[in-house]
Amino acid sequence: MIKILVATKNKGKIKEIREILKTLPIKIIELPEDDEDTVKEDGETYLENALKKAQYYANKYKLPTLSDDSGLEIDALGGAPGINSARFLNEKTSFDEKMKKILELLKDNPNRKARFRTVAVLYLPREKKYFTTEGIVEGEILETPEKKEGSGFGYDPIFKPIGFDKSFSMLGKEIKNKISHRSKALDKMKKIIEENFLGGNKMIEIKVNGKRFPANKYVYEVFKSVIFALINTLKNVPEIDSVEITIKKDKEEEIS
Ligand code: IMP
Repeated sequence: MIKILVATKNKGKIKEIREILKTLPIKIIELPEDDEDTVKEDGETYLENALKKAQYYANKYKLPTLSDDSGLEIDALGGAPGINSARFLNEKTSFDEKMKKILELLKDNPNRKARFRTVAVLYLPREKKYFTTEGIVEGEILETPEKKEGSGFGYDPIFKPIGFDKSFSMLGKEIKNKISHRSKALDKMKKIIEENFLGGNKMIEIKVNGKRFPANKYVYEVFKSVIFALINTLKNVPEIDSVEITIKKDKEEEIS
């Protein structure tokens, strides 16, 4: 089974990544608890930072590695804090302080437009190549923070996504995880993993009474979810170390 290392120690992020990729027959590997290395995020773009992290751990552990870098971009502040979102006013300043400062800077400014952006990278150490995706959620900066204890993190209390009437923090993780910048970037990465590592649609051939079944996309989706559900169930049986399913490749015909 394909293993993918997640280049983060942020438990919340790991949980989110596991949740989004759980339908794929892949094994998500976390960094060892005793790995104390840090990768300096000093790039000029989200891509540079995400790539730097993915490349470092991929080469260290010799595994395809997934990483991401995100930020909050506020139009009235020229896109700040952007790539410096974590370091805005210094890394040690609390997010309550950071948000207070942002609200001060935006005081009486009617232009509240903002967005969260994530760039995700999957780096392959053997091939020395990478895939990248981006996810954006548009919204606006509230006048006052709306914070639900234990829900969300960072700038969530002052960001209200378009189409909703509450902050990211108040919306809660179920809704946030469906519409967030990170989930959009990871959803795209999920498709890339399916296409490049799991054969995509073309590897499925279903024969009924010896005749090729018209496996259109709908049939393929049903077939795939049944197989993936089976693999995920078997994966959790302690006595089972690995599960492999071979699907015959038909080069002549393509599934429509
Ligand atoms: P990271 O690259 O995902 O670690 O994000 C860098 C910084 O962007 C974080 O420290 C937060 O300040 C901010 N950020 C990224 N994603 C979110 C989010 O979903 N909610 C709130 N703040 C976020």
